[in-house]
Amino acid sequence: MSDADLHVYSLPLRVRFRSIDVREGVLVRGDAGWGEFSPFREYDDAEAAAWWAAAREAADQGWPDPVRGSVPVNVTVPAVDGSRAAQIVRSSDGCTTAKVKVAQRGADGTVEELGAEIERLEAVRDALGPHGRVRIDANGAWDPDEAVRRIVRLDRAAGGLEYVEQPCPDVAGLAAVRRRVDVPVAADESIRRADDPFAVVAADAADVIVLKVQPLGGVRRCLDLAERLGLPVVVSSAVESSVGIAAGVALAAALPELPYACGLATTQLLTRDVVDRPLAPVDGEIAVRPVEPRTDRLAAAAPDPATVAWWDERVRRVAARAVAL
Ligand SMILES: [Mg+2]
Repeated sequence: MSDADLHVYSLPLRVRFRSIDVREGVLVRGDAGWGEFSPFREYDDAEAAAWWAAAREAADQGWPDPVRGSVPVNVTVPAVDGSRAAQIVRSSDGCTTAKVKVAQRGADGTVEELGAEIERLEAVRDALGPHGRVRIDANGAWDPDEAVRRIVRLDRAAGGLEYVEQPCPDVAGLAAVRRRVDVPVAADESIRRADDPFAVVAADAADVIVLKVQPLGGVRRCLDLAERLGLPVVVSSAVESSVGIAAGVALAAALPELPYACGLATTQLLTRDVVDRPLAPVDGEIAVRPVEPRTDRLAAAAPDPATVAWWDERVRRVAARAVAL
């Protein structure tokens, strides 16, 4: 692989996400197409290795055959007030499923008030109408008692929740919540950043699993994991450029069954992209189609030399590690 095949990118976000306001990474061109390598800066090389494997798969092998031509996606509503939440849902290009962030921590470390969450969920249900689906994501913020208390109230406010994603940080907590509430439980961090993703199944801790292509090492590894876990899958993004989103769409398109909308409608979070037509929803679905970055857009997305050097060095280390394995 020559250096000419690597393109470091830096794309500003519309709103701060995970305390970053610029998304950056490396796009890799290979014989089969384009791959994206964009682990967050604080991830060490061991964790970044899976992200590299996903990028190489995309560049060198391409995707398994799709079984569907488009993928339904959800709109994501961050921790905003009710009127802003309703506005986000109404301008979501036809998404009929909303994923609402809850349990957000303020600058002082305290978790958001239940009242604010109720207001947000009521507004989302109002904006979606009675047939829309509403799910919440707590990112592991609650202990089981707090989770049960809040889920019961939020289920009512939402007029029925599709599921609650990662209510507690650990598998035992997920299992305890699942025994005590009727709302289905989805595991995200407990799959993606766990030593043993099968612990979720062994503990009967989830009804649904969330899979992300880059952290789990590629589309084929995710398909294999989905089959072995034996639970319905929701594919989510890591807020990538359209090149990375294409990998998520490829996974969602190849899964034998796809009962839920996927969390892949995130290119709108970026102010620009590397392709002319970003992979974004039309009538609530993202079409399965190839993406081809444009030279002028890659040039416009190129960051300062220090950032390029940082990513070149990271790729060198992680690729050397992959060869050694
Ligand atoms: Mg999540």
